[in-house]
Amino acid sequence: MLDKCNKCGSNKLFVEIQGQRRGLYCGECGKWQKWITKEELQIAKFNGLKIIENKEN
Ligand SMILES: [Zn+2]
Repeated sequence: MLDKCNKCGSNKLFVEIQGQRRGLYCGECGKWQKWITKEELQIAKFNGLKIIENKEN
């Protein structure tokens, strides 16, 4: 599981759920990191990452 932004190195990452996809983004520079699996979402929740549910899609 990625824990740092691959652009700016910040550890302020968050997850945005877009329909069936879950994107990991940097909260500092906004850079998309990767799509994460259901399992990684569980890890993200455990680690206290912010989870945003985008219901627009
Ligand atoms: Zn960043």
